[in-house]
Amino acid sequence: MSANPPGDGPLIISGPCSAETEEQVFRTVHQLAASGKVHAIRAGIWKPRTRPDSFEGIGAPALSWLRRAGQDAGLPTMTEVANALHVEQALNSGIDMLWIGARTTVNPFFVQEIADALKGVDVPVFVKNPIHPEIGLWMGAIERLENVGVSQIAAIHRGFYAHKINPFRNDPKWEVSIELRSLCPDLPIICDPSHISGKRNYIYEVAQTALDLQLDGLMIESHINPDKALSDSEQQLLPVDVISILDKLVIRGEECPNYETVQRLEQLRLIIDEIDHQLVQVIAKRRDLVEQIGQVKKDNNVAILQFQRWFSILKDRASMAEQMGIDSKFVNELFQLIHKFSIDLQQQMMVNPIEANGVALNTENKQLFDKKKDL
Ligand code: PEP
Ligand code: MN
Repeated sequence: MSANPPGDGPLIISGPCSAETEEQVFRTVHQLAASGKVHAIRAGIWKPRTRPDSFEGIGAPALSWLRRAGQDAGLPTMTEVANALHVEQALNSGIDMLWIGARTTVNPFFVQEIADALKGVDVPVFVKNPIHPEIGLWMGAIERLENVGVSQIAAIHRGFYAHKINPFRNDPKWEVSIELRSLCPDLPIICDPSHISGKRNYIYEVAQTALDLQLDGLMIESHINPDKALSDSEQQLLPVDVISILDKLVIRGEECPNYETVQRLEQLRLIIDEIDHQLVQVIAKRRDLVEQIGQVKKDNNVAILQFQRWFSILKDRASMAEQMGIDSKFVNELFQLIHKFSIDLQQQMMVNPIEANGVALNTENKQLFDKKKDL
């Protein structure tokens, strides 16, 4: 079994969040395997739980349940490893593939320990994104595995911790896996919609988005009695429900099916390109104004941030967005970013007026500034 998706379709991995009993593992695996739609079985043996009083997994004795259930069903198996002992025990028990969890990817010491334990053993290893959206940590973990000779590596996008995020448990932040794709074009990236959703009724929509973004597969948690699951009970699905989601998912190709579609897309993309150019020009104009305002503040000893003004900007832009049928949350986030850029620019002007924004001030303002200096 390789970490690459089989054939053309997405790689499908399913199985319980945690292996709890031998019967639960066997029944889940058999129901999933019977569909012929699942390519590998997952089950957590050692569970990284946020609070110490939660179920922390059966540990090593459950490895043989997983291996035997997989063998019985003719499917490869995988589990999460967080240290060298886990790697040794999983591989000695005949588990075929490993994954590194989000709470481990975040720690280079743990990842290096796992990589060292994998020297000379070329099994497929999947690396989940770190809990917070730091792409360097995700890539660093992948590089540590490559450095010891692991040649079958895939990434798992499972979303990112967010203080308050509705409706999902973890913020998908799809842009992070898109960036990973652009940095590592040959790396298979699959999605774990279960841990993004946190609730079973969102799994289908998240899985469909992942496929529409050309991710290479899905890892979906399943349990024979989800409500009674000892971990992640709200997001686990009955095997039969996993299968019906897989049946419903639409796989859309990157290639256009015919010439008219190519032409239509071309026309629309030309317009989008034009609008994007206008957007950049508007942003540049806004930047010039921000510089002028910054200069007035500096000359008159006025603080950069005026909260009332900022709150009214946000309110005004959000209500305008609503009137125009645009998601006000999106517009709010956009203005947070634009505002951060403005504050940074004005802050640099206060310290070093010529080098504001990391580049020289625009010519007009620089001339103004120079004139002022001469006075
Ligand atoms: C899991 O897959 O059960 C798990 C603990 O995932 P994560 O590392 O994404 O939280
Ligand atoms: Mn889980």
